[in-house]
Amino acid sequence: MEYQAKELFAKHDVSVTLGIVANTPDEAKAAAEQLGVVVVKAQVQAGGRGKAGGVKLAKTPDEAKAHAEAILGMEIKGLTVNRVLIAPAADIAEEYYFGYLLDRSNRNYLCIASVEGGVEIEEVAKTNPDAVHKISIDPLTGVDEAKAREIVAEAEFPEVLVEQAVVFAQRLWDVFVKEDATLVEVNPLARLADDTLEALDGKVSLDDNAEFRHGDHAVFEDKEAADPLEAKAKAKGLNYVKLDGAVGVIGNGAGLVMSTLDVVAYAGEAHGGVKPANFLDIGGGASAQVMADGLDVILNDSQVKSVFVNVFGGITSCDAVANGIVGALELLGDSASKPLVVRLDGNAVEEGRRILAAANHPLVTLAETMDGGADRAAELANK
Ligand code: GDP
Ligand code: MN
Repeated sequence: MEYQAKELFAKHDVSVTLGIVANTPDEAKAAAEQLGVVVVKAQVQAGGRGKAGGVKLAKTPDEAKAHAEAILGMEIKGLTVNRVLIAPAADIAEEYYFGYLLDRSNRNYLCIASVEGGVEIEEVAKTNPDAVHKISIDPLTGVDEAKAREIVAEAEFPEVLVEQAVVFAQRLWDVFVKEDATLVEVNPLARLADDTLEALDGKVSLDDNAEFRHGDHAVFEDKEAADPLEAKAKAKGLNYVKLDGAVGVIGNGAGLVMSTLDVVAYAGEAHGGVKPANFLDIGGGASAQVMADGLDVILNDSQVKSVFVNVFGGITSCDAVANGIVGALELLGDSASKPLVVRLDGNAVEEGRRILAAANHPLVTLAETMDGGADRAAELANK
């Protein structure tokens, strides 16, 4: 959220004004009493708040209260606004765009800068592409002073702002690198009436893979917006992503699970267009507990109509997985209520199939092949 991005900016001495976060209209009013003329800004993890009516100028505390009343509870891009930022109103002369991001296709970093910011940068890029400057950044040298000067010259910042912009470019780079971000975006980077530069908005995407280095980033997670099934899976240490279809998927190994999603989607075309309901990689272990945890999450997804368990025994042997499935169904008891299609192959496959056949669970169907299993699971989901 903007207020969190601004806190990160402030930590690295990027020029920002933090303002006051308010959860209620009365808190908004109290904040405005301290700050004077303010802007009331919806705090959600999405852009385009201005256009959606989530950013409003308030000249008096009562006006701030009224705007907060209107904005709190509003939906922006499917996200409910639970808090507003009360920021001192800035006297804006011009609005610029400035961002750093990971440029995967070029295995590089990229700076995007434009002195035509404010409105949607995507729109400027379409109608006036020459105004949007893209400067690639060597990851080994990053943005030192020389690189910052190059960026600022390329982006054609006005002469009076050059020195400030050079400092800004380096400090924002500090945010990008030191916080392990994959994106930092400032729109608008405002030229105020007194010719100072200030970040009036901020968006930051942080790299989850670097979480271990940043205990302080955990607070940025928007728990209210998180999918409840994903939250439950995370609490159980499962690698789960909720999707929109009706066929629950469990597999071992990210590659196998990804291809299972494809095969299920393809098989689904012949069965009313059913699609996979989730990604779930149970990894190497596949104990009864892990299998039960995985099934528990998937079976609690009300969209799920059938489950396809697709396991290739490598280091994990199929008999352990089969025992895991049998044990999981015992652990879950009556809460396991949807048909399971199981395809096992690889290490100890015969023993695995024997265990499942012997258990003879009414919900479980054994499939010989991945394609066959996907087809059966899709058919069951379409019933
Ligand atoms: P976004 O729409 O989600 O990107 O939200 P922004 O924070 O960028 O705000 C949208 C627009 O509101 C900006 O482009 C500004 O034109 C305006 N705005 C934001 N903060 C202020 C402020 O402090 N003073 C003034 N005058 N306008 C502001
Ligand atoms: Mn913005």
